[in-house]
Amino acid sequence: METKQFQAESKRLLDMMIHSIYTQKEIFLRELISNASDAIDKIYYKALTDENLSFDKERYYINVAADKKNRLLKITDTGIGMTAEELENNLGTIAKSGSLAFKTENESKDGHEIIGQFGVGFYAAFMVADVVTVISKALGSDQAYKWESNGAEGYTITPCEKDTVGTEIILKIKENTEEENYDEFLEEYRLKSIIKKYSDFIRYPIKMDVTSRRLKEGSENEYEDFVEEQVINSMVPIWRKNKKELTDEDYQNFYSEKRYGFDKPIKHIHISVDGAIRYNAILYIPEKTPFDFYSPEYEKGLELYSNGVLIMNKCADLLPDYFSFVKGMVDSEDLSLNISREMLQHDRQLKLIAKNINKKIKSELQGLLKNEREKYEEFYQSFGRQLKFGVYSDYGMHKEELQDLLLFYSSKEKKMVTLDEYVSRMPEDQKYIYYASGETIERIEKLPQTEVVADKGYEILYFTDDIDEFAIKMLMAFKEKEFKSVSSGDLGIDSDEDKNNNESEENENKELFEAMKKILSDKVKDVRVSKRLKSHPVCITADGEITLEMEKILKSMPGNQDVKADRILEINVHHDVFASLKHAFEKDQEKLALYTNLLYNQALLIEGLKVPDPVEFTNDICKIMV
Ligand code: ADP
Ligand code: MG
Repeated sequence: METKQFQAESKRLLDMMIHSIYTQKEIFLRELISNASDAIDKIYYKALTDENLSFDKERYYINVAADKKNRLLKITDTGIGMTAEELENNLGTIAKSGSLAFKTENESKDGHEIIGQFGVGFYAAFMVADVVTVISKALGSDQAYKWESNGAEGYTITPCEKDTVGTEIILKIKENTEEENYDEFLEEYRLKSIIKKYSDFIRYPIKMDVTSRRLKEGSENEYEDFVEEQVINSMVPIWRKNKKELTDEDYQNFYSEKRYGFDKPIKHIHISVDGAIRYNAILYIPEKTPFDFYSPEYEKGLELYSNGVLIMNKCADLLPDYFSFVKGMVDSEDLSLNISREMLQHDRQLKLIAKNINKKIKSELQGLLKNEREKYEEFYQSFGRQLKFGVYSDYGMHKEELQDLLLFYSSKEKKMVTLDEYVSRMPEDQKYIYYASGETIERIEKLPQTEVVADKGYEILYFTDDIDEFAIKMLMAFKEKEFKSVSSGDLGIDSDEDKNNNESEENENKELFEAMKKILSDKVKDVRVSKRLKSHPVCITADGEITLEMEKILKSMPGNQDVKADRILEINVHHDVFASLKHAFEKDQEKLALYTNLLYNQALLIEGLKVPDPVEFTNDICKIMV
């Protein structure tokens, strides 16, 4: 009998399989079952057009059987089978789809991991078997053939006996080695779990003999083992079912079965698209932030199926970073099983699906915001930060997309509001969207800087998240209204009269302010008359792009120790304290220094900043008490 050599490319793949060091050896079963399912599909499609052929669903199935004693694992199907020629062409040569993926991957460094993740086809059998035997009888043929190979030495094809049409693949499972346990591929429970994991939604029943225990008939305490054929896979995936037939509970069960999360999702999105691109997807918006969500360990992504077969656990390309919280799966018939990660990235179909999904998530969130505000706020509590991060990242590329989804706490409404809501109730004379930053709502509420804006009757957005100000700086404006910090130099609310007043006050007190500036030396850039204070004597604001809040945040990041906002000490010239300052300036320079330092430190405290020398500060207070 002639032993034929594998075609060169196939041999390379084979070598990799035989000497495989891949961790996910278990995928061999997924590959063989997928092939079996494809073979049944082929009969099915033939039956659709050939009236001599009927497709009797009962007769089509896949069987998996382990023979521990002889170390044999057998995968049988009632599919279309292969002729001798087909055995030669299909199994002696690497299959078209797999070949390209393999070639590119084999040259890349992380090829190993990729083999574990993606379809590798029939040869995957050699990861776990020393000898692979394929017995097949093709539809319409009288003769069956046996293809056999131990990998390295090539293969043989000989005529053999087989009654029914279909294929039987027999694997002689390798002996255990020190590093590898191959026995597990003969264990019932292990095989069952591999089938469940990868092939649960294969459309045909995958049958297996399963041993269970039962009470012996007529006995009350004696048990016996019995063997029973079971269908292991659930066949019809929930995502292929009609939405109308499914309840909220079904979706919730799927969420927990799949371990997408331990919470109860806020919303599920079931998508079935049947057009230029065909896919089904079930997506979830979780309720709670996963514990590692805001850490670098968190991996975004959706499960990716190709026609019911899982090909990737976390396909990151399906989700933009700003929607990284979305969980779920996508199944498309248009994706090949034999697809590599590199190819996925360039896959046009996948890109289209991703775009589609992105749109859908956005519109679902908008719907939630519009119709189920409470739920949306709950969602926002968990993942709003990620949306704001999305506005800020990639140089603001996605800001238009996301701005409608943002919420901020409103000084007026005492709750979260959208930018649109804010702008729509702005009085005619209000030029800007005002905001104030601080650690908590309570603290911002008491900030002296907010007084004038609030007095004007204008709404202020409170920024308590460290990303807020950065995101808003990226946004710059919403519906042509610019954002303005209540601490910024020009608040845009002075009348001309106010401006004149301010100027004359500034001139009148020029020398006093110069003296104070000198006392504070490099601590402040300037001392000025405040236009925003009403009941408080002083405050600190910042000149320029970096605000005091931003300084705090940037400083807390490594390498940013030198970041500093330009500080301006603002004085309320209508406050009683100012009279004392003036008096001291004229009569007692030492007192002026004392008062200036005290006021400066007070302003720092109000702002939530550290007083540089607390001992000196308390000593100063004591001085005015005696
Ligand atoms: P792919 O499934 O991507 O084509 P494989 O290496 O898994 O690549 O399989 C190679 C080919 O062998 C298949 O395309 C098919 O024609 C044939 N084949 C494999 N297993 C079976 C089977 N159980 N029944 C019929 N044909 C099969
Ligand atoms: Mg295959």
